[in-house]
This record gives sequence, structure tokens and C-alpha cells, in this order.
Amino acid sequence: MSSTHPLGLVWFRRDLRAHDHAALSRALQQCRQVHCAFLFDSAILDSLPPADRRVEFIRESLVQLDGDLRQLAGHGGAGLIVCHGAALDEIPRLAQALGVQAVFANRDDEPAALARDQGVRTRLAQAGIAFADFKDHAIFERSELLTRGGGAYTVFTPYRNAWLAKLGPDDLAPHPVQEHGRRLAPRPARWQRAVPELEALGFARTDLRQLGVVSGSAGAATLLAAFAERIDDYGRTRDFPALAATSGLSVHLRFGTVSIRALARLAQTRAQAGSQGAAVWLDELIWRDFYLQILSNFPRIAGPEGERRSFKPAYDAIEWEHGPLAQQRFAAWCAGRTGYPLVDAAMAQINATGFMHNRLRMVVASFLVKDLGIDWRRGESYFARQLLDYDLAANNGGWQWAASTGCDAQPWFRIFNPVTQSRRFDAEGRFIRRWLPQLAGLAGPTLHAPWTAAPLELAAAGIELGVTYPAPIVDHETARQQTLRRYAAVRGHPA
Ligand code: FAD
Repeated sequence: MSSTHPLGLVWFRRDLRAHDHAALSRALQQCRQVHCAFLFDSAILDSLPPADRRVEFIRESLVQLDGDLRQLAGHGGAGLIVCHGAALDEIPRLAQALGVQAVFANRDDEPAALARDQGVRTRLAQAGIAFADFKDHAIFERSELLTRGGGAYTVFTPYRNAWLAKLGPDDLAPHPVQEHGRRLAPRPARWQRAVPELEALGFARTDLRQLGVVSGSAGAATLLAAFAERIDDYGRTRDFPALAATSGLSVHLRFGTVSIRALARLAQTRAQAGSQGAAVWLDELIWRDFYLQILSNFPRIAGPEGERRSFKPAYDAIEWEHGPLAQQRFAAWCAGRTGYPLVDAAMAQINATGFMHNRLRMVVASFLVKDLGIDWRRGESYFARQLLDYDLAANNGGWQWAASTGCDAQPWFRIFNPVTQSRRFDAEGRFIRRWLPQLAGLAGPTLHAPWTAAPLELAAAGIELGVTYPAPIVDHETARQQTLRRYAAVRGHPA
């Protein structure tokens, strides 16, 4: 393809890698010289706490990206321009200062990002600069997969079947950057500064490294290589939180330090070679696309605070618990002090690490909504603050699934029993013991429900219920009946 612009700018956002990158690939094909930039967007940063693992993850990933871009260019003069400010002002200002004719970016379909991009596009147009955006974050996005009736899919299985039927080699092909890497422009003197330290951005260092999280493309590559060794077992092992069975790649998918096409290629190749585990894992990647297209086609599910709607509108009439008791129970859930060990261990995990195993996300979400009767939106926003891999589409999808308010969700009358889940998915209590050492002395069945232990057994394990570990804050069976009534009321069914 011939060059159409003398100068272009690639604006990196949630795509922090220098390989298989749609916007970078296109810019390198279409421009004689290409600058690369990342903006620490004050509209996002200003609402974060002073120490946030995600900001540190991004910063470390940028250091790698900067090095990878120089390597790609084959000369040390290239590299990433890093700015800090409001996108609406800074991106047009940078584009004009660099004298580029076009800005290239990968699409981000979260409502706030769409509004931001529309604003930037308008400002750039006023300056005579083009804004070109590309699909990079999903295999199929927006309205690429529609039902025969022309609507968006709202049920996973037919969506998955259509996804697999449509998938061709082009959909998984990498976007090449190597061939024209030398077109990466030298960084003008004004932007020679290295990626700013966290402190310069107004943030403190976190425990990211102590937690063993390796950021950037290198971190993703290490995780992927390790996961490729155990992918065949994924279908069998993925539901057991005590095992390191899943890929751990969600944060890398979130920030684009790995390419979704590379992951889908691995999954498809191995599935075609007969790996059951790889086929199950491919389904999980399809769930990710599914929720991304739900967000894109039904943005009302993710409106701003106070305007966030249930996918199924009838459920917006549910009477959730309010008042001091509900507040106390919500605080107990957040702190992992509900008296249900699997729920509490899971909350201890997210509070200490910013990660929670998928099975446990389902269990604790169900517990908050269907045992405590608390609005799913409160749990959704707690997760949004805590999760390193926080992703609006997947998080909203997961919460609405658990609350039965979502598309293709858990039926409203199906209510997880937290003790049964515990016995089934942490039978030996390895996960619970890891996160709740105060319960480690309990043996066998009572570990999953300490209130059923005899006083002597509790004493022998050094546990005083209500003192060293909470008594259950609700009775599951009573809560279940209340939930059935709560949901039946809005559906016009007798409970
Ligand atoms: P793996 O099992 O290795 O799966 C591979 C990838 O597939 C994941 O990294 C993820 O990108 C995707 N994936 C897997 N399961 C799902 C799913 N159910 N929905 C959408 N994508 C999926 N995932 C997030 O990435 N960010 C979130 O904020 C998020 N919030 C959730 C909230 C709730 C209430 C629930 C039930 C699920 C949520 N998930 C979220 C989905 C899932 O729990 C995580 O993606 C998964 O635990 C990440 O671990 P992993 O990378 O080892 O996953």
C-alpha cells in the first residue's frame, strides 16, 4: 500500500504492545513517518485513589512499549511520547505540534471512551487532521455478528455458533508492524523525557510487584507460555480456585499487552487438534466478545451512576434492601466478614490482590444479590474499584448474569447455595485455608459451615464464633425465600 500521509500519530490506549496492532500497522503502511503517544488521561486518573495497581501496571507496560518501539524502529531515536492531561485538549495539541495529518487509534466502545473519541475527532477535524479508528480489541465487534432478523445476539449459544461459523483466517491474522518499523519517527527534542515516574503523575507505588504481577508484553508472553502447557486440562480444572488452572491473562487483555488474535489462534489450533480444554477456553474468549457487543449494542446497561439499567427492564422494579442493616451487611460483604467461609475467602483474595477467581466472582455476586438482597450495581462498582482486570463489559455482564437481570443470565429462581458451592469447588478447603488461616484448624465438612461445628470442635480449632470468625450474617434458606418473593413480585408470579 502506498503512503498517503507524510506524518501520522498512533494514540495508544488499551492496546499497550508494539506487535499485532491494528492502528500501528495501518499507520506504518499509510504514513512516511509515524509518531507514537500515550496520554495519562486526567479525566480517568482524577477519580482514582492515590495508589492504584492499574496505574502502575500501565506505567510499567509503557516502559516496555517504549523499548519495544525503539527496537522495532531499529534506531534508539524513536520511542513513545507520554503526555498527561485531558484528551480533548492534549491529543489535538500534540497532533498539531507534531504536524501530523492523521491520528490512528484502536476502538474502545465503553460509553465514556466513545464520547471522548467523538470530542477528539471533532477537534482534530477543525484543525484539518483526520482521525482513523480500527477494530483491535475484539475478534468481532459492534454489529459484525447479527441474528437473521438483523438484531444483536442476546443469547450466548447462538452467538457462539455464529461466531465460530463466521471465523476465517483473516479474523485471526496478526496486523504486521515489522516490515515498516523503520518508519517510526525520531522523537522530537521536546518529548525526549522518559515515561514519568508514578510520583510525577500524583500516584504512589503499590504492591503490584510483590504480588508477582508482571506487566507489559513480556508479562503476557510468560503467562501465555505457561498456560499453553496446561490448556488441555482447562475444562476439567478451571472451576477450582485452589488450582492455578486459568490463564491469568485478563489484565493483559484489558490493557492490550497481549493480542486477542494470538490467544484465539492458540485456542483454535489446539481445539482443532482435539484439545477439549482449548475448546472450553475458546468459549471464554467468545464470552468476552459477547459481552463487548452487548455493551456496544445496549449501552443503557452501563450508563453513569444512577442511570445504569438492568438488561431486562422489568428487574429495575426490584425492591432492594436499604437502610442501616443493609449497609452493615454490605460492609461485611466487602470486608469478607459474612460468616460464609468461601465468600469471605474470595473477598479476602480480591481485597489483598485485586484478583478473584471466576467461580468465586459468581459465588460472591450471587451472595450479595440473592442472600443479602443488595442491588447488583453496588457490587459491580465495588469490583470496579478493586479489580486489576476491571473491564466494564465483562464486569457488568458478570454481575447481571449473577443477578438474573442480564441477557442470557442465571434464571432468577436459581440461587447458589454458598455452602454447597464451597463443598463442590473447594472440597478440601485449600482455598479457604489459604485466605482464612483463622479457620485452618477446622476439619472436613465444618470448614465450609463453621456454625455447624460442635462447641468442642470449635474450641479445639481455636475458633470462637462471633469473635475470631463471624457467625453467618444471614440464614441462607430464609434469604432464599425472601429473594424468590422479591423477584416474583416484579415478574407477576406467585412466590
Ligand atoms: P481465563 O479462565 O483464563 O479466561 C480467559 C479470558 O477469557 C479471560 O482473561 C477473560 O478475558 C475472558 N473471560 C473468561 N470468562 C469470562 C466471562 N465470564 N466474561 C467475559 N470474559 C471472560 N473479567 C474481566 O476481564 N474483567 C472484569 O471486570 C470481570 N468482572 C467479572 C465480574 C463477575 C461478577 C463475573 C462473574 C465475572 C467477571 N469477569 C471479568 C469474567 C472472569 O471472571 C474473568 O475474566 C476471569 O476470572 C479472569 O481470569 P483469567 O484471565 O485467568 O481467565
